[in-house]
Amino acid sequence: MQVLSSISELRAAIRAAKRENPDAQVGFVPTMGFLHEGHASLLEAARAACDVVVLSIFVNPLQFGPNEDFERYPRDEERDLALAAKAGTDIVFLPQVEEMYPAPTRTIVSVKEVTSRLCGASRPGHFDGVATVVSKLLHIVQPDQAFFGMKDAQQVAVIEQMVLDLNMPVRIVPCPIVREPDGLAKSSRNVYLSPEERAQSVVLSQALQKARLRFEAGADDTTPSEVTLLVETKIRQAPLAVIDYVEVLEFPSLQPVSSFADSNRVIVAVAVKFGNTRLIDNAVISI
Ligand code: AMP
Repeated sequence: MQVLSSISELRAAIRAAKRENPDAQVGFVPTMGFLHEGHASLLEAARAACDVVVLSIFVNPLQFGPNEDFERYPRDEERDLALAAKAGTDIVFLPQVEEMYPAPTRTIVSVKEVTSRLCGASRPGHFDGVATVVSKLLHIVQPDQAFFGMKDAQQVAVIEQMVLDLNMPVRIVPCPIVREPDGLAKSSRNVYLSPEERAQSVVLSQALQKARLRFEAGADDTTPSEVTLLVETKIRQAPLAVIDYVEVLEFPSLQPVSSFADSNRVIVAVAVKFGNTRLIDNAVISI
């Protein structure tokens, strides 16, 4: 496994791999590091589908708000490299902020409409930062396929829209959410939770499970507001949970659903704060 920190070295390594095998499919997994089984599942999907697997680890300052956790975002390079090697990664790209942004960027990629709700509404500027850095990384790596987790379903919708609108020659591959045994979606930010918060955080997946069961019982005789209330009521059973949003939207447009009879895929998306830790989770349901 090669570990590279400059764009020119990375481009040279990918060129060399393609010289060796001109038909090589390059698979790319962009992350912010502090890797867990969720990231490993993306690397494994890339390994199964591609000849060369490239992982990037970069905590992108552009996608953090002024009062968010950029400075204290968890980092553990040594552990990340061990997990990456075990998952079959060929090349790790680990740039410093100065390598990615040698000067303040004057070009921002801004995806409209799919960013107007959910985390787009509660984290202003976040998806401009995400779309801009993913666009840069896709230009640098030039992968055939890029793998993203449905844990960040809005991010998948944003990147798919960007790739479509800007004719980027890459296939976006969404991968399922990996969870802890009790249902909590794996996240680098779970380490921030106190034992009490960790115990209560299970309400997110439990609330989404309630929504799933409600749809299974018959989508025709329920409404988006009834499902929203069901999910909010379950989350409120956790005394430490502070709801940021609970929304039921069409997926992947992420626009409101008036009646379930008119849509075939919806997302139930939640963001909940426990102390300073903000957790997100979702269920995408085919009707
Ligand atoms: P992050 O390092 O949080 O930016 O995440 C990098 C990639 O890993 C994104 O595509 C995430 O959606 C994905 N990811 C994070 N957590 C999970 C999870 N629990 N299951 C599946 N994918 C995940």
